[in-house]
Amino acid sequence: MNNKAICAIATPPGTSALGIIRVSGNNLQALCSKIFSKQLIDRNAVFLNINNDEEVLDSCVVIYYRAPRSYTGEDVIEIICHGNYIIMNSIIDLLCTLGVRHAEPGEFTKRAFFNNKIDLVQAEAISDLISASDKRAVRAAQNSLSGKFLVEINNIQSAIISTRAEVESIINFPEDEDIPDLSFTKIQNNIRETVALIKQLIKNSKEGLSLNHRRTYAVVGKPNSGKSSIINCLLREDASIVTNKEGTTRDSISYELNINNKIINIIDTAGMRETNDEIEQEGITRSAKSIINADKILYIVDNSKGLTDEDLKIIKKYNIEDYVLIFNKIDITNEAPKKTTKQPKEVYVSALDNNGIELIKDVIEDDFESNDITENLYLSRNRHIYNLEKTNEHLICCDNHISDASLDLLAEELRLSHLALSAILGQNPTEDLLTEIFTSFCIGK
Ligand code: GDP
Repeated sequence: MNNKAICAIATPPGTSALGIIRVSGNNLQALCSKIFSKQLIDRNAVFLNINNDEEVLDSCVVIYYRAPRSYTGEDVIEIICHGNYIIMNSIIDLLCTLGVRHAEPGEFTKRAFFNNKIDLVQAEAISDLISASDKRAVRAAQNSLSGKFLVEINNIQSAIISTRAEVESIINFPEDEDIPDLSFTKIQNNIRETVALIKQLIKNSKEGLSLNHRRTYAVVGKPNSGKSSIINCLLREDASIVTNKEGTTRDSISYELNINNKIINIIDTAGMRETNDEIEQEGITRSAKSIINADKILYIVDNSKGLTDEDLKIIKKYNIEDYVLIFNKIDITNEAPKKTTKQPKEVYVSALDNNGIELIKDVIEDDFESNDITENLYLSRNRHIYNLEKTNEHLICCDNHISDASLDLLAEELRLSHLALSAILGQNPTEDLLTEIFTSFCIGK
């Protein structure tokens, strides 16, 4: 690992009241004395100026975490400055002229892993916690991060180790030729109990994994039905161009929407219609892709024209199955907003008057499970579930070898199950696995 000090802006792009810059490296004191107007004190917030020669770049609060009591296990400083990108970048530039380099995504957490501050499961949980898209997902990520998942894995590991020890001792020290049935029964019971524990953990992990999926809604319909206007109402800002000319929104644009703490992606698509215009056709092809990849379609109908044959043709042509019909422009027909529960659900709104938009939000919220119990759910990864299933496959094979009294084969299956379980914790991780995990992080974490 390249041990040069690293720095990154840890707050999201854009202007904000405050911005945070993180620096991690070995022995940062020399660097600090060059740029800060005051001496730092370990784990204390110090108000000071950042100087570049005679120039004061900003007045900041700086917290110094002396190694090894820091996030990365190295010296870490967190500079809390004004949230202006020009200021933040000038501080980053200053750090770089003094030998610090820009951090790669997840590099702070990678260093924490290599310095034994966290294990691989916790590293993954940190990334998941940052990107968790609803309250349940946040809790499940916290369960993984707090070590609850690890405790369960360690319990399973201890059970496998003690069974392995039992089998190895029979192999190495056979007291007599005939191994008592009692030993086999004990081993069999231990293995069956472990299999049951793993099955439960797989169930909780699979449920947790599904929480990690951010739902995507594609807004589809004929040109001019009001797709962009509806999205603008949902986002409460003029996020995409709204105009009278048909076929304006030619590309599929994705937005992030927060509905009562449930974060979804919403995609504005090009209006669907027969056209010879090449650019518009390309937009329609992209819309078709969005339809395939979306979890659900919000199909917008111009209520003043009603659900036409052309709409029905589009729904059929693009195999739109899971959808909600949104009848827009009820101001023209003088109708009140409402929603129906028959399938497909129908919602009547006016984007122009911002009337009934909350009913669209209700319909989206209906898609989220109401079950709030997350006590034992883990925001796990596919690789955790894969390795748990592998562990169990080997344990289940043990049963046959017990009935055949094939001790060597039994010992081998137990070893393989132990190996599969260890892979979850990242004992002997491959470079590819580490790259996959850490590059999914945002810069600054
Ligand atoms: P898109 O092509 O489906 O994205 O449609 P736009 O959102 O661009 O809207 C097309 C036209 O319909 C614009 O002139 C909008 O002002 C108008 N429009 C959108 N929503 C409503 C509505 O609820 N009522 C009325 N009367 N006009 C609307």
